[in-house]
Amino acid sequence: MKRQEIAVLADEKNILFLEDFFSKRKGYRPHYFDRPSLFIKFVRDNPPTAAVLSARYVKAVSEILPSCPSIALISKDIEKTIKEAMARKVHCYIYTPFMEVDLEHKLGQVTAEKRILSALESRKKELESVVDLMHLISETLDSKELLFRIVRKISELISVTRCSIIRIDWRRMTAFVVASFENPSFRGVELDLNKYPEILAALSSKKNVIVKNVTTDPIMSGVRETISPLGIRSILVVPIFHRNSIIGTLFLRTSRAQNSFSESEINLLNSLARASSNSLYNAFLFEQVEDEKARLEKLSITDYLTGIYNIRYFYHRISEEFSRAQRYASSLSCLMLDIDHFKKINDTYGHKTGDLILKEFASLLKKSSRKSDVLARYGGEEFILLLPETTTAGAVCEAERIRLCINKHVFKSLKTRREITISVGIASYPHPRIKTHDDLIASADTALFAAKNSGRNKAAIYDN
Ligand code: GH3
Ligand code: MG
Ligand code: MG
Repeated sequence: MKRQEIAVLADEKNILFLEDFFSKRKGYRPHYFDRPSLFIKFVRDNPPTAAVLSARYVKAVSEILPSCPSIALISKDIEKTIKEAMARKVHCYIYTPFMEVDLEHKLGQVTAEKRILSALESRKKELESVVDLMHLISETLDSKELLFRIVRKISELISVTRCSIIRIDWRRMTAFVVASFENPSFRGVELDLNKYPEILAALSSKKNVIVKNVTTDPIMSGVRETISPLGIRSILVVPIFHRNSIIGTLFLRTSRAQNSFSESEINLLNSLARASSNSLYNAFLFEQVEDEKARLEKLSITDYLTGIYNIRYFYHRISEEFSRAQRYASSLSCLMLDIDHFKKINDTYGHKTGDLILKEFASLLKKSSRKSDVLARYGGEEFILLLPETTTAGAVCEAERIRLCINKHVFKSLKTRREITISVGIASYPHPRIKTHDDLIASADTALFAAKNSGRNKAAIYDN
């Protein structure tokens, strides 16, 4: 049990009684002083549970009495000295003949009062923080900002190295970071819950999970090696409820150098989670809609079979890139790529294998193109590649590189080793007859037709 710290300022007459008293009681740790100035300094620097002082010092130390529970030992002029001690905010007193049972009782009273006071004090702080947070939340309608304000407030109140809010998506059994104080770019990151057993434990128990020490807590045994380089010591997961279901969690972690979470910190977090749950619910709904919107947007520009862009997105990009090339008088090239005799592949191996080849073909093209290139499926077994800032010479190099790469590649889905070849049409801006982005596409198509007519498995340049 934690010992009670007691500051003692006593004259010779009282000191023997006190030394004898404290030597018999292990629950207290007395600190003896014989000068008021040293006593005052000690009380200020290390607020003790209580002070015990001879009555004649009351006046000299009266400045610290209102903030430190104190017991005066009164030996003479009893009535007058009691009045004087009370006036100077001494908590209680005992008078001669001093009895141990009396001092013990008074110390018990003072320490109990102090405990209640500090519990009230921490409850008051907690309520103030909740009011503060409510105020911060009500000031903004922006969900991103709201979520960030909550993690920022928590990080101000509790000293942690990492503080995030996690949204749980029960439909997809997954979790997302919706706000992170230490690194706002973690926002939107999806968590693999198998790597976060502490979050899973909070979700299944519907209770707080406190990992005091990640290196010893059995709950972390499966992931200790992964998180040990992060230098984390303690973790606290506080579920956020909305109408009895968990919609997310607060996720706090401290570094090795810090202590674990105190009871008052945990109480505070529970209050904050409860108080902000409605706002969090609304913010999470908004986030979910945004995620869904982003997913649909991606879907609407993606080719269903190959996963690369579809022609709709390609048109949008080529019109932008064409305008840019016109404005800055830069080069822009377009490659139209078509698999030779693909019909035969389908006829020989079946449509399903044909599909697998198309997928593999698209991923090969994607791997070999630059980040600034725009690759799309033009339709069927035809693909189109836009090369910004690329002249005809550059485009020819690129087309040859791709053509040879496809020639050499052994497709996984073909049973026997068989060469797949492609023909490529190349068109580049600037060109006297290419005035629009549609002209550029049509010219690449014309060049492709020429490549096919001249025997396939080759690249041809428009109007060369
Ligand atoms: P070439 O281009 O060399 O002139 O001959 P080709 O046989 O490749 O050309 P054609 O235009 O005659 O036929 C294209 C074939 O591509 C026909 C069609 O069955 C196949 N195809 C188009 N889209 C898909 C698809 O999504 N999956 C599969 N498996 N085949 C497709
Ligand atoms: Mg073809
Ligand atoms: Mg074709």
